[in-house]
Amino acid sequence: MHLRYSYRVYPTAGQRAALAKTFGCARVVYNDGLAARKEARKTGRPYPKATDLQKSVITAAKKTPERAWLASVGVDPLIQSLRDLDTAYRNFFDLVSGKRDGRPVGLPRFKSKRDARQSLRFTRNGFRIRSNGKLNLAKIGDVRVKWSRALPADPSSVTVVLDAAGRYHASIVVDVELEHLPEVDAEVGIDLGLTTYAVLSDGSVIDNPRFLRKAEKKLKAAQRELSRKAKGSRNRSKARRKVARAHAKVADTRKDWLHQQTTKLIRENQAVYLEDLNVRGLARGRLAKSVHDAGWATFRRLLEEKAARYGRVIGIVPRAFPSSQLCSACGHRDGPKPLRVREWACGACGVLHDRDLNAARNILAAGQADRLNAPGGPVRPGVAIPRRARPVERGTHLGDLRTTGIRATGAGGIPTR
Ligand SMILES: [Zn+2]
Repeated sequence: MHLRYSYRVYPTAGQRAALAKTFGCARVVYNDGLAARKEARKTGRPYPKATDLQKSVITAAKKTPERAWLASVGVDPLIQSLRDLDTAYRNFFDLVSGKRDGRPVGLPRFKSKRDARQSLRFTRNGFRIRSNGKLNLAKIGDVRVKWSRALPADPSSVTVVLDAAGRYHASIVVDVELEHLPEVDAEVGIDLGLTTYAVLSDGSVIDNPRFLRKAEKKLKAAQRELSRKAKGSRNRSKARRKVARAHAKVADTRKDWLHQQTTKLIRENQAVYLEDLNVRGLARGRLAKSVHDAGWATFRRLLEEKAARYGRVIGIVPRAFPSSQLCSACGHRDGPKPLRVREWACGACGVLHDRDLNAARNILAAGQADRLNAPGGPVRPGVAIPRRARPVERGTHLGDLRTTGIRATGAGGIPTR
């Protein structure tokens, strides 16, 4: 499977200039390719093929006085830039034709010098890792890399990214072998929260780390400072840079932390069950900020990637599942409760519940029931149960759980089967 590893790189002033030139050339090639396709569409001609496009906007263009400077940079990133254009078109058409679903994407747009993020991709012929640890990029030179973690295999491509904070990263794709971990008995349900990061069905709590809150405080201070600077002033652009840096710091810190948490969960459990939170839907509402901060989408993606790699199972419990309404001890449905209710006693059996822990236990039971009921037996490692393939209709989960999971729970809320 392909994995992406990202490292900070520190190009010299000369290398930064060479990168800037190549960013510019790759952007021009992309835009020329896009213009050629748009022109073909307007005049009713068929879309130029990728190879023809490459000939016209790179090979032939280099020989014209207007584009002669394309010859001064490596050709590999230029070809990759056209590939990206191809991919952008393909994604759009696959979405329109219903071949693929997901986040809506529009037709490719022209790139601008002012885009916050600039990137270049080098394939196998365009880069090399030197024995001294430097990353050699064709026509750029040997760039210093901070190898923050070991690269597990030979890289197949390198993307150099310049972000809004002015930092350079090398995003390296490697093809790694699956390394299935020895099986363990433990399985866990996770309730993602707002007060704590998550509560696990075994009773443990993942708290929001303090260093993250500290980084966020710095970001807020930088944002306030920015809002006080006059528009168009030099101080304002300085302050904007500071905000971008603080943003990047928060994002990096959060990602590191999410990596640690997800690795631990995958190592310790054979199966991990989560609720299908509609992060995009939630983010539009009032909870927007905290939802983004919590990075739930990233949390889930990392769990899925790691489960696939290490031979574990991720089960996603449908959004409609009333995880906070059911009693995890007896299965009684106690009705919805406002968010401020943190503890409640079951109206049927009288057990006193911590809201989040009870929800986590229900998610575990529902996930396990779903896994048993899935057509074709237990789900494959790391693959979320697709909603369409689920045997149970929305709203009928309760009855189903009563027969398979929740009724069979022991004193600890852990199913005894
Ligand atoms: Zn009960």
